[in-house]
Amino acid sequence: MPLPALLRPAALACALFLGSGAPAGGVTPEGEIRIGVLAFRGAEQAVETWTPTVTALARALPRHDVVLVPLDLNEMREAVAEAQVDFVATNPGHYVELEAAHGITRIATLETTDRGTPRAAVGSVIFTRADNPAIRTLGDLKGTVFEAVDERAFGGFQIAWREMKAAGVDPFDDLDLLRFTGFPLDSIVLHVRDGLADAGTVRACLMEEMAAEGKIDMADFRILNSQPVADFPCALSSRLYPDWPFAKLRHTDRALAKRVAISLLREGLEASPADRAPQWTVPLNYQPVHDLYFDLRLGPFAMEPGDVLADMAAEYWEWPAALAILLLLAAAAHVRTEHMVTRRTAELHAEMEERRRAQEEAQLRLAELAHVSRQSTMGELAAGLAHEINQPLAAITNYANGCIRRMEQQGARPHDTAEGALALRTENAEILAAIRQIVAQAQRAAGIIQNIRAFLRKGEAARTPIDMNRILRDAAALLAVEARHNGVTLRLDLGETLPDVLADRVQLEQVVVNLMRNAIDALKQVPEKERRLDLRSAVEEDGATVLVSVRDTGPGLPPEVRGHLFEPFFTTKATGMGLGLSISQNIVENHGGRIGIDSDPAGTGTTVAFTLPAWPPAAGG
Ligand code: ADP
Repeated sequence: MPLPALLRPAALACALFLGSGAPAGGVTPEGEIRIGVLAFRGAEQAVETWTPTVTALARALPRHDVVLVPLDLNEMREAVAEAQVDFVATNPGHYVELEAAHGITRIATLETTDRGTPRAAVGSVIFTRADNPAIRTLGDLKGTVFEAVDERAFGGFQIAWREMKAAGVDPFDDLDLLRFTGFPLDSIVLHVRDGLADAGTVRACLMEEMAAEGKIDMADFRILNSQPVADFPCALSSRLYPDWPFAKLRHTDRALAKRVAISLLREGLEASPADRAPQWTVPLNYQPVHDLYFDLRLGPFAMEPGDVLADMAAEYWEWPAALAILLLLAAAAHVRTEHMVTRRTAELHAEMEERRRAQEEAQLRLAELAHVSRQSTMGELAAGLAHEINQPLAAITNYANGCIRRMEQQGARPHDTAEGALALRTENAEILAAIRQIVAQAQRAAGIIQNIRAFLRKGEAARTPIDMNRILRDAAALLAVEARHNGVTLRLDLGETLPDVLADRVQLEQVVVNLMRNAIDALKQVPEKERRLDLRSAVEEDGATVLVSVRDTGPGLPPEVRGHLFEPFFTTKATGMGLGLSISQNIVENHGGRIGIDSDPAGTGTTVAFTLPAWPPAAGG
């Protein structure tokens, strides 16, 4: 499959041009999908971060031009208001704002991987020096010098602000100095360690990353308001919130949004933990972010300056002291103030209520979306399944037809001579053999179905010690006819003293059959006298690993497909499903082995090799 044109240089230029402050002019050309991303560290950094996502979308939607548009907070607000972009990725706080103001709807949530553990939640850490005797709780932060990255940073300040507020500390009033440092975040941590600030906040996990890079020692810090949250891999001082959402705009076509969501989810599903590209999971509930904005009176809940007193009154009305103030206020501002307090509070509650309802509705749509995504994957898997099962079914039909033919001939012939009786016995023996084949093939078909189900469940299949050579011989016998039919010379070179492997027989046979069938397909592209297929098995020197290889003399692997062969649904064949290699990889890795594919150094032919651990494991190994 030719790879689609990805992020074109022209698009990039346009994206960067927009990012430098000029709003998009004109109409969005048909077929173009514009993705606005919050470039909180500049356009270049945003392009670097988001190019993998845009590239994957371009690959999934080959008929569209996918364009990345880095924007700062204000530019994004404007671009959304004027429908200049079709999708946006932004921080959770800004999302909440745009959701309230312009009805954008999230379709996926970013998932971060920390040392192998995926998580879709963000939090913050608030810290001081471990040897600072004066700061042990958030309340002790009053009167200190405190650092954060930016007033508008969600994980970098607002999350911590809410925790400080809950502990009775207003960062804007109660600190000696609140310093916003800008990027890089590392400097906040270093300032606190070096005594240039008393305390600070950064997004959770940054400190662990710095420690892993050897920049700091975690033992030098005290974490304030430490939150014991199971499964969260880092020190944490706050509640957790959903990570960045990917959202569609109100005008964005629903069907397109669905396809984008499915593509994002599929990327997230198939990415390996080592991938540095942003990965996505189903959209999470952003109510906690709404609650934060409500608490802090930010974004959609921002108040007029005059409402601040009303806010105080609403929050502290049961405090006698505040009551006294309220009474004074009431006296000064007459009944009107009180009326406004009640009205504003009621309004806010109505807004919250409205948001909750919208939330529920979105949740419903979400379930629908997840279902569609599952269904489409299942649909493609089912087609692959049909392909796999066709083979044994065709064999069953052939054998059964053979039986019928022979029995018809028997009926038409006299049986009472000596030769007649002999011929009959021979024929009966042949019919019996064919019926046995029918049973075996039917069992194989059943086995394939059972294993695909197991594959979908990702459950463990039944494993027994197995002779790999037997599997190779069985697979070769199974495909002998197909190989002969295509003029392929099949050779087996099986190691003599091969240890067993602990495996599911049908699954391993499926792997070998998949690889052989790929080889036969490839060989069809070279002249008949050059079509050779070699099956090899061997044990590695240490005796702990069994090695199997399937080598063909086909046309080899073009460079542009090499990186994609194990991706599910990647195929270069008109009728291919692109599942053979990914299912094989899944099976081999589930058995504790590894699989790889390469062309011969000479540039012709392909070898697929896989390993499996020997059973029983070699002593000491
Ligand atoms: P499918 O066979 O349905 O296409 P696979 O996952 O088995 O799916 O293979 C994916 C792609 O890998 C194939 O379409 C083909 O381009 C390539 N491929 C696999 N095996 C070989 C081989 N032996 N020689 C050349 N290309 C191969």
